Amino acid sequence: PEVGKDPARTYRLGIMGGTFDPIHYGHLVTAEQAREALDLDLVLFMPAGAPAFKLHQRVSAPEDRYAMTVLATAANEAFFTSRLEIDRPGVTYTADTLRYLRAHYPNTVKLYFITGADAILDIVSWRDAGDIAELATLIAATRPGYDITQAHERIEASGFPFDVRYIEIPALAISSTNIRQRVALGRSIRYLTSESVVGYIRKNRLYQDVDVIERSA
Ligand code: ATP
Ligand code: MG
Repeated sequence: PEVGKDPARTYRLGIMGGTFDPIHYGHLVTAEQAREALDLDLVLFMPAGAPAFKLHQRVSAPEDRYAMTVLATAANEAFFTSRLEIDRPGVTYTADTLRYLRAHYPNTVKLYFITGADAILDIVSWRDAGDIAELATLIAATRPGYDITQAHERIEASGFPFDVRYIEIPALAISSTNIRQRVALGRSIRYLTSESVVGYIRKNRLYQDVDVIERSA
């Protein structure tokens, strides 16, 4: 998308990273409310190529995860899906992606990395966390009533200069793990993700033989 072409104005670019196996309404509502709360110009959904945390886990083909992300985001004029990570060989690291975007866009573009409550607790241990802190503002989506103390303390203790904006989103106990398990068990996944993604999963027979006792993530 056209970003940063006007040197006279600041663009706020949100980045929603994930495995998106599959994308679901938890991801979408988080991105939408982050966009609204921080007045983001657009949100770039970034399906991971080979996610660093899931190297010992079966993950669907990048093209399938990319296609589902495109389908789910297509109707929102502020949402775009990027091939950056799935086209990059090797393990995916967020710091690499942010460095690429920082080098690619002019300085009028401000980067915001959007994460859920679980990811915010881990981020200080991600590869090159200090660089992540310098490259992007973090938008941490929490549930109403969620205690941010632990996240806050962990970030403070890291010594990295994280700039974190906490936003509260409606509680959504949806996870990709649960969707995969439901498909494998023949249960309904309607209204957990978009109709288009539900159809794509059925048409391409994804998650048919997922290990249904796979631990929830
Ligand atoms: P899995 O169950 O396979 O781990 P997931 O549902 O956690 O999948 P990911 O692709 O791992 O989805 O998550 C990508 C990002 O979305 C992370 O920052 C995560 O914290 C956030 N996220 C995941 N589920 C939700 C949800 N229900 N509400 C808000 N944010 C979420
Ligand atoms: Mg997860």
